[in-house]
Amino acid sequence: GAEPRTVRQGEPRLTVVSGPSGVGKSSVLSEVRRQAPEIYFSVSATTRAPRAGEVDGVHYHFVDTAEFERMIAAGEMLEHARYAGNLYGTPRKPVEDALAAGRPAVLEIELQGARQVRRAMPEAQLVMLLPPSWEVLVDRLTGRGTEPAEVVERRLATAREELAAESEFDASVVNADVQAATSELLRLILGREL
Ligand code: 5GP
Repeated sequence: GAEPRTVRQGEPRLTVVSGPSGVGKSSVLSEVRRQAPEIYFSVSATTRAPRAGEVDGVHYHFVDTAEFERMIAAGEMLEHARYAGNLYGTPRKPVEDALAAGRPAVLEIELQGARQVRRAMPEAQLVMLLPPSWEVLVDRLTGRGTEPAEVVERRLATAREELAAESEFDASVVNADVQAATSELLRLILGREL
């Protein structure tokens, strides 16, 4: 695994949460948010189109490619990556402001972004959310069986790559049970026993 880092007890810290599609990141993180409203959750910028129910400025900042590129050029992104044909990035300032105000901060981002945060902020904690088994993840990603085989195959290949990076992370949390995974993640994010 990665080098253990020294984080003083109670010091606000940045936690990156990654994990393959289908692992249940959004269920666990919405439970974390509900149980600990003091945590700052980063709102990413993306060039992807909003999905039904997504609100600009809440789920994402929906921007066009020109604006995304301007933000990169201006040094406003803490990290950015291309994923499934769209650009995603973390605006730096709100994260820095939250940490400076004493709030723990969480980024839910994919692997390439997690690696950039590791380089930019070595004190950040990287946590990978894992499925209980590969078979469970395959079941979740195969889903209703209504999608073309090549779409499912592509998704499985990406998931396999992400899981292979587990040793680069400081900790992993198995999502067998949402409440148990939430408690474990909260303990890591808040840096203390609950
Ligand atoms: P979705 O389009 O399904 O919301 O997100 C697709 C992937 O992009 C997910 O793995 C999500 O974690 C990742 N993602 C969301 N925001 C960011 C970001 O700011 N930076 C990076 N690197 N990945 C992100």
